[in-house]
Amino acid sequence: MREYLKFYIDGKWVDPIELKTVNTVDPATEQVSGKIALGSPADVDRAVKAARKAFATWSQTTREHRLEVLQRILAEYEKRMGDLGAAITDEMGAPASLANGFHVGLGHGHLTTAIDVLKKFKFEEQRGATLIVKEPIGVCGLITPWNWPINQIAVKVFPALATGCTMVLKASQESHFSAQIFTEILDAASVPAGVFNMIQGKGSVVGAAMSCHSDIDMISFTGSEPAGVEIAKAAAPTVKRVCQELGGKSANIVLDDTALAGNVAKGVTGMMVNSGQTCSATSRMLVPKARMKEVIAVAREAAAQVTVGNPKGNSAMGPVVSKAQFESIQGYIKKGIDGGATLVAGGLGRPDGLEKGFYVKPTVFANVTNDMTIAREEIFGPVLAILGYDNVEQAVAIANDSEFGLAGNVAGADLDKARAVARQIRAGWVGINDGFDFHAAFGGYKKSGNGREWGEFGFHEYLEIKSLLGYAPDKAAE
Ligand code: NAD
Repeated sequence: MREYLKFYIDGKWVDPIELKTVNTVDPATEQVSGKIALGSPADVDRAVKAARKAFATWSQTTREHRLEVLQRILAEYEKRMGDLGAAITDEMGAPASLANGFHVGLGHGHLTTAIDVLKKFKFEEQRGATLIVKEPIGVCGLITPWNWPINQIAVKVFPALATGCTMVLKASQESHFSAQIFTEILDAASVPAGVFNMIQGKGSVVGAAMSCHSDIDMISFTGSEPAGVEIAKAAAPTVKRVCQELGGKSANIVLDDTALAGNVAKGVTGMMVNSGQTCSATSRMLVPKARMKEVIAVAREAAAQVTVGNPKGNSAMGPVVSKAQFESIQGYIKKGIDGGATLVAGGLGRPDGLEKGFYVKPTVFANVTNDMTIAREEIFGPVLAILGYDNVEQAVAIANDSEFGLAGNVAGADLDKARAVARQIRAGWVGINDGFDFHAAFGGYKKSGNGREWGEFGFHEYLEIKSLLGYAPDKAAE
């Protein structure tokens, strides 16, 4: 049992102003796994005051000073990687190999990337007689989801620190264990008091109080589209910057060539990673209609290979995060069946032999049309929809016929063709045969949000741009 009842404010572990708690549930066993504190607007005020006070000095620190702090965090992070992985498995049921590998590795990768970027980042730029100066925006409110918990925290906290901002973090209630360990890492690294503050609580209480807070200068939010809209509305009267990283319903266009079978299998397996709880998951696979029969056979075989079970064992897929998530996914699977899609693998209920825990069958539907609910809404579970196309132009049209535009992929043996198709997808993160890059910009078009995180792009979210006019050209600092 884990018990995390304190918040981290002004460099100290403090009691909430009024202690309210909630039990956490292990998604693998449905047993109580711990207890966490829930904050209030008064806790938000306290954290914001500490961040505001610290901003006066932290915003004036040198690049070298901030690099030293980030290097100290890196040293402490590397000591606690095992603890972070265990926390992620406990809180959201990610298999240990995934939690200790990709989950924790993403946080590490964003930290080393932030260090690399900070070494070279141009905070000042001379343009004729004008000096363009990029200054930290101020006190930042960081609100994160549970699905890649350390990744989401890392892509906000490290660039915010690197650019000289101070911050208040509120992670998801479902992923508080890893947020707690992350905070312990920053504490051990002696991040100056008030620069980083962590409070816990419900989105509707703590998150809402942050969104409308008059002394928070920007909110960086990652989560669902409805919550993103609520936050933007609540923030509007204060005219703060709101960076939104929201949901997706991304398309994987599998081209008609010799690599098709391998690419279909890869697309199925990829969909099941993290139990399908990935914002950029390519949950719509677009395949040549004429080859649907062959695709179905490959997809059925690939889904059957995905083992589901105890995340502390060797299974490829653990449970989904919560009962609510389990029930929501079951509802979508039912809609897929009732809507007339062909159920290729999986379906309703738990996988055979699993009586307890929020386990979902790796599910694949084929002959899906783009007007079906399972093709339009973000399911956020291990459910893949396969749609047929007649030609590449139609595939692109189907891919872009979505309210979302977060990610996409084009899979094909002919690189030139794949690149040409990828350019036509209206989304922010498009793989060509599944590329990956910590220095690429991550963020969405349309209802997938307006922010760009990762690498140098993440720094810009935390900076204001000032023009110093009439600045003598020979006075430029860098
Ligand atoms: P969620 O929107 O329910 O919650 C996200 C965070 O927002 C939590 O900390 C929550 O407490 C808080 N919150 C909820 N309502 C709020 C409100 N009214 N005001 C302020 N804060 C509020 O999302 P979730 O279930 O935690 O995460 C899954 C969603 O996140 C999916 O839609 C997924 O696609 C999206 N996501 C997007 C990205 C991206 O980078 N674009 C990455 C990961 C997850």
